Amino acid sequence: GPNVPDKTVREPTSADLRTDVAHSARVYDYLLGGKDNYAADRDAAEEVVRVAPYMRTSVRANRDFMVRVARHLAAECGVRQFLDVGTGLPTSPNLHEVVQEVDSSGRVVYVDNDPIVLAHARALLTGTPQGRSRYIHADLADPEAILSSPEVRATFDFGEPVALCLIAVLHFVHDDERAHDVVRRLLEPLAPGSFLALSTITIDSAPEEVGDAVKKYNARGIRSKGRTRAQVAALFDGLELLAPGVVPVHRWRPDERARAIDDSQVSMYGGLARKP
Ligand code: SAH
Repeated sequence: GPNVPDKTVREPTSADLRTDVAHSARVYDYLLGGKDNYAADRDAAEEVVRVAPYMRTSVRANRDFMVRVARHLAAECGVRQFLDVGTGLPTSPNLHEVVQEVDSSGRVVYVDNDPIVLAHARALLTGTPQGRSRYIHADLADPEAILSSPEVRATFDFGEPVALCLIAVLHFVHDDERAHDVVRRLLEPLAPGSFLALSTITIDSAPEEVGDAVKKYNARGIRSKGRTRAQVAALFDGLELLAPGVVPVHRWRPDERARAIDDSQVSMYGGLARKP
């Protein structure tokens, strides 16, 4: 396992929920058609949809990418351990449901830094077989706290491959160096043959609209950044990128629903790579 000291992960209080300001998880939930959001979140989402009307389609395409990539990892790559950072509010199917449908022994550790996600995830995970899915409140910016958490240590066998899933979360890390560093540190203790699945916002599809949408988020305190294809590809440095490479999420091993989506409606790149 990772040779780092245990740290206590701080438990959130109700004051942390801050229902008066927009939160990325709840804005995303609203765009997906979910109900776990407040007025501030809906206002922020509507503001973004006004400048980028395709945003709901893009968010849905991203969620569907998560489902396809998780199924591919479980069914085709034989992965049984998943570390999902930036989990979001529960939306069916959740990652553990996708991978446990392939093999009921699939294990998932969910990580998010939003206290409301924690509250919902705890409720959701009650009733799943002990040890098969866990949830921790931690920040992507502190990979060592994630890797050394008792939940990660108790759930994963570090001698076996782990799929690190960073789905729609790296756009919250502005600095390219830092984003790359976080990826590298999270992958470091994982066994050869582990995987990195990620998706993140791109400005390539519609530079002006996405630029405006990102500005709206930033003005609301949800600091996010769109990246070019080259910047996204660089996040996979040192890994073996699997076909079809870094592509708009709806073009990653598409099913019928994904094939029906027009390129102009999606502003997320996704990819899957293997750690040599
Ligand atoms: N992965 C899910 C949800 C994406 S929404 C999906 O693709 O469907 C983005 C999530 O990332 C939100 O739940 C938000 O709370 C979380 N997040 C944002 N910044 C984070 C950080 N620094 N550390 C951990 N989680 C973060």
